[in-house]
This record gives sequence, structure tokens and C-alpha cells, in this order.
Amino acid sequence: MTRPTAGIRSGRPTRYALRFVPYLSRPFNDPMPQTVLVIEDELDISQLVKLHLEDIGCQVTQAFDGIVGLAEAQAKPFDLIVLDLKLPGLDGLEVCKRLRAQGRYTPILMLTSKSTELDRVLGLEIGADDYLTKPFSVLELTARAKAIFRRVGLLGAQQEGNGAQVLTVQDLSIDVSRHNVTVRGNPVELTAKEFDLLAWFARHPGRVYSRDQLLDHVWGYQHSGYDHTVNSHINRLRAKIERDPQNPEYILTVWGVGYKFAEPGPRAEV
Ligand code: CA
Repeated sequence: MTRPTAGIRSGRPTRYALRFVPYLSRPFNDPMPQTVLVIEDELDISQLVKLHLEDIGCQVTQAFDGIVGLAEAQAKPFDLIVLDLKLPGLDGLEVCKRLRAQGRYTPILMLTSKSTELDRVLGLEIGADDYLTKPFSVLELTARAKAIFRRVGLLGAQQEGNGAQVLTVQDLSIDVSRHNVTVRGNPVELTAKEFDLLAWFARHPGRVYSRDQLLDHVWGYQHSGYDHTVNSHINRLRAKIERDPQNPEYILTVWGVGYKFAEPGPRAEV
């Protein structure tokens, strides 16, 4: 009896050619699969993304237009949403904005077909965590997905086996594994990048970073020319955590150089 197949790539050797690459074929140690929602109207790309995310141990749900995708994303939590920019029904930017407006934190990896700066910056400014420009390699896709899982602690805490870690700086508390931030006892909703930036700062108090260095450390790959992305993330972070964003206590400007995080430093608590 023939095993039923779904999608145009099923049964073809496309994916198996890559199975022998150790980096791709190594499954996560985690017995609980990461759940991923793929919102992409191009069937072959959706299938390709699905197959390769499954190869790294993810459980994948597909949606083929923006309206269904948004409804899926609102109906249940996912660990990652792979979101195409150009979608029928509701485009990717709108889906991203609506999800972010609701305050539920889910990392979003945006797929764009144009590599114009506008698309890139827009994707990041509205709260997407990362983006890939089509055509992208599957290695790039799985590397980005893993990097996102690692950043939000889905992998890191389990792989390092070190449970919850809370960074505390003055009235600011950052739960690295749970991705929770409170300031003066109040919860703060941050996008993934805002969180990464804050966690980076909090781990390196008193140290001065240029915008380029922050791009390298926090965005994780070459992003030169996007200094204003750092500025806008810092402005939004300040608006969320500072008592008076004009006179920040946490994220301090070092004129002509960049930024540094206030001392005294964080103390790690288990
Ligand atoms: Ca599309």
C-alpha cells in the first residue's frame, strides 16, 4: 500500500539530499517539539519550509492566507511563526502588526521576496524578529529558526540544563528563560528583539557599545547600515522601562560612542 503523500515535494529526493548534513539532521534534545505556524501562500515554499522544520524536530501547522494565518495564531500559542510578506487576504505586515498589538509574544520570522531596504526595515520595525529574503537556502532557514528558539530560551535553558535565570538590575527584573520582564513590579511587553537587546545590556552592565556592536551582538548577523534600527529599538525600550525616557536610568547614552547599561550589575538568581 502506498503511503499517502501531501504536497508537491513529497516522495521526491529534494529533502533527503540534505539529510546527511549533520548540522541539519541532528534533532533537538528536547522531547517537546517546537510548534511552528507557517503562513505562506506559495504551496511549494510552504512545503519546503515545513519539511525542513520537521527535520529539525518542529511540529508544523500551515496556513495559506493572512486571515486564516492570523486566526490560527490567535487560536493557540506557537513557538515561532514563519510569515510571508505578500499574502492574499491580509498581508504579512498587517498580520504581524495585529499580533503585536495584542501583546502575545511569539517570535516571527518574516519571508520577503524583495530585498529592498524598506521591506527589511519595515519588517523589523513592526516587530518581526528576523527575516529571510527569497530565495533562501534551507540551511539559512533552519539556522535562523534555531537561533530564534535559542534566543527565547526554548533551547538554551534545556541544553545548558540551568533552569530559570533572572537578571535583576535596580527595579528591573528579566527572566531570561521565561522571557518575562517586570519593572517596578509591573510586567512589560517586549518584542523578541527588544528583549534580546535588554538582556544583552543587562548581562554587560557598564560596558559601552556602539550601534554597530549592538547590531552584531543582538541581531546576530551582518546588518551594517541599520543603525537607526538600534536607535528605534532603544527608544521603544526606554519608553517601556524608563520612568522618564528623556532621563534614562537603565539605558544610558554615551555621546559620540553609543550606549551602556546602568551599573550596579545584575545578579543571577536561580
Ligand atoms: Ca506570497
